[in-house]
Amino acid sequence: MVRKMIHILTGWARSLGLLSTADPLKKLSELRLKLCGECDFSRSSTTLEIINGTMKKESGLFCTKCHCPCKQKSLVLDETCPIKRW
Ligand code: SF4
Repeated sequence: MVRKMIHILTGWARSLGLLSTADPLKKLSELRLKLCGECDFSRSSTTLEIINGTMKKESGLFCTKCHCPCKQKSLVLDETCPIKRW
């Protein structure tokens, strides 16, 4: 439970630029998101994010299998796909 909370906070902090993301992890995230984009379990979603003090609508993918936002999940190294695609 605590581990999952740390993953959620880490993924959101990285996606908002509050935590730095190393280049290899950025590349890994891109590969993971490509697989999510081709997956039958992904759906388009819209979230509200505060970027530089301004609230904006951001489009992305949401996994209907694990109920996680794909971008944030992809930015956590030891997260895994629930159907083992990545
Ligand atoms: S995490 Fe896995 S199951 Fe979920 S959308 Fe991505 S590829 Fe599909």
